Amino acid sequence: GTIAGSITGNIAGDITDANLSDLFAQQQSAQRAAPVVPLEVRLDRLTRLQEALVKAEPALVAAISEDFTYRPALESRLYDIDLVLGEIRHAKRHLKRWMRVRRAPVPLIYKPARAEIRPQPLGVVGIISPWNFPVQLALSPMVAALAAGNRVMLKPSELTPRCSALLKDMLSGAFSPDEVATVTGGPEVARAFSALPFDHLFFTGSTAVGRKVAEAAARNLTPVTLELGGKSPAIIMPSADLDRAGRRIAWGKAMNAGQVCVAPDYVLVPRKKMLLMADAIMGAFMHYFAQGPESPDYAAIISERHHARLEAMVKEAEARGVTLFRLDEALGDARKFAPTVVLDPPHDLALMQEEIFGPILPILPYDDPQEALDFVTKRDHPLALYVFAEDREEQEFWLENTRSGGVTVNDTAIHVGFATLPFGGVGPSGQGVYHGRYGFETFSHLKPVVRQAKHNGMSIAEPPFKGWRKRA
Ligand code: NAD
Repeated sequence: GTIAGSITGNIAGDITDANLSDLFAQQQSAQRAAPVVPLEVRLDRLTRLQEALVKAEPALVAAISEDFTYRPALESRLYDIDLVLGEIRHAKRHLKRWMRVRRAPVPLIYKPARAEIRPQPLGVVGIISPWNFPVQLALSPMVAALAAGNRVMLKPSELTPRCSALLKDMLSGAFSPDEVATVTGGPEVARAFSALPFDHLFFTGSTAVGRKVAEAAARNLTPVTLELGGKSPAIIMPSADLDRAGRRIAWGKAMNAGQVCVAPDYVLVPRKKMLLMADAIMGAFMHYFAQGPESPDYAAIISERHHARLEAMVKEAEARGVTLFRLDEALGDARKFAPTVVLDPPHDLALMQEEIFGPILPILPYDDPQEALDFVTKRDHPLALYVFAEDREEQEFWLENTRSGGVTVNDTAIHVGFATLPFGGVGPSGQGVYHGRYGFETFSHLKPVVRQAKHNGMSIAEPPFKGWRKRA
């Protein structure tokens, strides 16, 4: 294509194996040659992805664990493999209905015209994915993009090199490069990738990089979906069952060692229950990981740099005399990080300013619910919000008065698993949604079509406007 020169100029050594813009041009011309993508073709692509994933599962699970230095196989199976297989099954089951041309009502003045909405593929779409669920966040958007009949280019994370290389192998075995192409590499490649004039660009990652992606896409007027992060609060209301809340918050925070976009980032709790809450959460951590962080059911931190960042957060809190509870120090694996509860930290600490993205959990006391609400609403709209309350009105107070990507009441994180619900952020935690039908629509153009009738009333709007002038 015409952009080839400017893009290849930016590409670092990583991508010597594939010329980005050539790949893009190849997908574009394949798309132009076959703009209609029938149900059978889409189902076949989904089936190929499904079969390839089932076959690659053991290797992928092992690769992820190596990339992290350690991650429980069950976490990879459930949240990376099974979740995607679930999305594929759901899409295959419902695709025929999603693709159906939908009849739309016709306003009286246009009768007897007919109106319909026709979902069509967007064309060539890009997906940029992060490291924390390296299979799920690469392939789950891909399921939606393929179901909608698109050609897909994927740029997986450089922080999970073994997993990304395997994904690339797996996808190139199952698809021709003009159907699905994988481009591996770091920020240089990612920058060049996000400058391609895609028909849609789907990004999952940090808010800071998401901003850069949105800027790059804006130059091409490429529409974006941004799945970003932020500080997701868990709020304990007076009617909450503290033990249950503690267990489910600890679960949401222990998963993947807190490296989860929807992990509870901090807890707001009525002041007189702060210690009870800390106790319930630490108790749950101790129950989950009786051997401490060495437990085979607990993941390591993705890199030394990320580990050092978390350690610095804890050190800063200690230096300020904040009370901490830690589940033992890590012993064998230097990249394990002990689950840590932080009591009532000052709000200027890094751990209250940044998304934590690790197993550190600040607990903040509040005196009345309005004060807790103000604390949450004065901050960026979070990706997720968790409210723990047995009382229905206490639940409603938070559902009505806050905006967040999604909500789970009396649990954490599970709303992400529903293929029947839209998933996405709001404001700085993201824009656009996917999963199930919502993903299909994100990657489709919902084209309105009107069919005019032979005998219709439109002649009254044709000049000369004599009758109208008289009325005015
Ligand atoms: P990241 O933003 O550092 O990287 C994500 C991807 O962007 C990687 O593939 C990377 O190579 C690429 N990238 C880097 N620089 C780029 C640039 N200039 N232009 C284009 N792409 C570039 O994110 P991460 O550290 O991999 O992931 C952690 C973050 O992702 C957290 O903030 C977390 O909350 C968020 N996240 C969000 C979701 C969600 O669904 N909303 C899911 C998982 C993670």
